[in-house]
Amino acid sequence: MFKPLSMVALLSCFAIGFANAAINQTKGDFEDKFRQLDESLPTPNVYRNAAGEPGHEYWQQQVDYQIKAKLDEQKRRIEASEQITYHNNSPDTLKYLWMQLEQNKFRNDSMSAMTTTFGGIGNRGPATASASSDKPAQLSLGALRRQQFTDDHDLGFDIQSVTDSNGNKLKFTIVGTNMRIDLPRHLKPGKKTVFNIDYAFNIVEEDAVTARSGYEHFPDDEREGGNDIFLLAQWFPRLHAYTDYEAWTNREFIGRGEFTLEFGNYEVELTVPADHIVSATGELQNPKNVLTSTQRKRLKQAEDAERIVFVVTAEEALENEKEGTDATKTWKFSANNVRDFAWASSRKFMWDARGHQQGGDDQPLVMAMSFYPKEGGKLWEKYSTESIIQTLEVYSRFSFDYPYPVAQSVNGPVGGMEYPMITFNGPRTELQKDGSRTYSQAEKRFLISVVIHEIGHIYFPMIVNSDERQWTWMDEGLNSFLDGVAGREWDPSIPWGVEPRDVVDYMKSSNQVPIMTQSDSVLRLGPNAYTKPAAALNILRETILGRELFDFAFKEYAQRWKYKRPTPSDFFRTMEEASGVDLDWFWRGWFYSTDHVDISIDKIYKLRLDTHDPDIDFARQRQEELDKPESLTDIRNKAEGRKLWIERFPDITDFYDENDRFTVTNKERNAYQKFLSKLKPWEKTALERAVKEDKNYYVLDFSNKGGLVMPIILELTFADGSVENQYIPAEIWRRTPKAVSKLIITDKDKELVSVTVDPHWETADVDVSNNHYPPKIIPSRIEAYKTKKRSGKVYRDIMQDIKTELKTYDEDDIEEDDNN
Ligand SMILES: [Zn+2]
Repeated sequence: MFKPLSMVALLSCFAIGFANAAINQTKGDFEDKFRQLDESLPTPNVYRNAAGEPGHEYWQQQVDYQIKAKLDEQKRRIEASEQITYHNNSPDTLKYLWMQLEQNKFRNDSMSAMTTTFGGIGNRGPATASASSDKPAQLSLGALRRQQFTDDHDLGFDIQSVTDSNGNKLKFTIVGTNMRIDLPRHLKPGKKTVFNIDYAFNIVEEDAVTARSGYEHFPDDEREGGNDIFLLAQWFPRLHAYTDYEAWTNREFIGRGEFTLEFGNYEVELTVPADHIVSATGELQNPKNVLTSTQRKRLKQAEDAERIVFVVTAEEALENEKEGTDATKTWKFSANNVRDFAWASSRKFMWDARGHQQGGDDQPLVMAMSFYPKEGGKLWEKYSTESIIQTLEVYSRFSFDYPYPVAQSVNGPVGGMEYPMITFNGPRTELQKDGSRTYSQAEKRFLISVVIHEIGHIYFPMIVNSDERQWTWMDEGLNSFLDGVAGREWDPSIPWGVEPRDVVDYMKSSNQVPIMTQSDSVLRLGPNAYTKPAAALNILRETILGRELFDFAFKEYAQRWKYKRPTPSDFFRTMEEASGVDLDWFWRGWFYSTDHVDISIDKIYKLRLDTHDPDIDFARQRQEELDKPESLTDIRNKAEGRKLWIERFPDITDFYDENDRFTVTNKERNAYQKFLSKLKPWEKTALERAVKEDKNYYVLDFSNKGGLVMPIILELTFADGSVENQYIPAEIWRRTPKAVSKLIITDKDKELVSVTVDPHWETADVDVSNNHYPPKIIPSRIEAYKTKKRSGKVYRDIMQDIKTELKTYDEDDIEEDDNN
């Protein structure tokens, strides 16, 4: 799914509220970050070993689906039957199977509907109660629309029959979004069972309910042309995962925590209106039945084309839009080793394609393809397929060759959502009065970033199959990190939201929970599960491990868990084990706590080594005394021309007026000789050399104000204008996490003049005003403003207003009025 709090702020799909809920997380609790994480992680076993690898007895289930579905365009309904083959690869005997029925979430009696709170976090738009104030409480029109839609439609899965391979009925029990099927015979390890489900459901209107799928209806006027786009996902009863770490992952689908699924092979037949174009997970099996010979030729041409080739052109799509038909066609798709299946269907679609020749033995050619209505326009034509290919290039460099034959981007009502081989992406062009279409810079950036993000998800979690219902960060965080890598190789001026500086405001806020929080309970999902883990991995790569170690370990993780199911501990352990660096402090600080980074440089002392030679040390002390500022009284006495008593009467002076307290006598010289004679030869050599070199000794005092331990990165500027950088590993905090001092020794002529902590803002330090010694003036902005007149809107001049003429508005008038 696309980041709820996007930098482009165009997403309608998931606005996470900022209400200050009552959770006041203790900040900076200074829990010892160097305690080993083994205290918290699950004990390694034969399924998941201590290196973070699949263990020697690793297993996972396999579930194969054969589905025949019909899209009833008039009723906006799916009628389907599926045959499921469940392979029990676990060492356990199963008495029942648990299935996911996500469509049931949209029923008015679902846990999701019943537990939706009024106002606050997780709600769309403002919805605040304020009984005490004059202002009315607010309920967004979007919330009203949703309510009306779910009232007016019969939603959820209609499970018509569940039968075994002989047609005998199987007992099933529906519990919210889950369904238990009781097996007539226990399913032993290594055995498989086949069963059938007939089902139907009414498709939701995505814009009304926000569902990650659904239909979108375009206004039935000449400009828009009517017609629907159908995006189908969570559209068939699917098996819950059965795992070694949690058994059945049958947690209710409330809406936030996404999907935990098994790999398997799919044969899917989709019957749709004959003028529809279909995009789906998998490879099209019957192009001769559904495409014209010209279209098939174009598709072939696209395989080694330099730029996109239209398989269905804009003109052809427009032509399709005009007609409509009662005839149907059946599109057949086959997909191997995927964890899900999604599809899209519309007569509005144009279709472009370009082959990505990635080489290698497994899948040398990948067809990158985009499907979009005229509303996608030039924006899609230029950037969608191109962004797909750039994503494949970068992600494969960090993981493995893209293993599937197609990678697709489909425009529709969903802001951004991922499925195997297919993604749904929302950005569009804007229709102008003259009939042309244009797009803003923000919409362009949104398209590029959402395509990179969603196509990236085909790797994480569609192939590296983490448990999304539990841990959003494992797919969204890792994927945001990589989309930031790909994105900055595309255009670094787009705000990708993965830089350490992008997370500081969130990290110093009090309204947060650790990254290691189950998905549905996370507060502020965008910064928690996307930005913070992405920034953390960025820091791990650029600052703590360096690119070479990080990239090696990350690739190891991706390859170990390709087509398998990693847990957080597998990620933490692999990154440590493969990089060879103890990162427990990092995981503990960034993933298990809400502490933030704020390292302050408090003081610098300059020290000079005593030589022990009284003739040198006493003279230095005398000079130090002289270097102190003179007393103001003395200065003014002199200015007034006052003479000291002894100046007026020199005859009363004595020895002490000629010799100060730093005068050296032989007593001190003898003591020095005696000290030297007692030194061992090596001690003497060391002292003599140190005296001769007379280096500068600087003591830097640092304090940790945020609680997170991090490396101290220093930029040292010297009197001669030179600059040096020093990297002090985070382990400096291991005994005293709140404050440390560091000695820095420089050559005699290398005088330190200033120190900056984290000069490149690479550690997410939330307060850079304490990062300079001596302190710096912080530039900021202030605006002069004019006091506004009190609004007169409460005083209606009804006597005047009653003369107003009645007017009717169409869209153009509104635009004109708004422009006025
Ligand atoms: Zn996502």
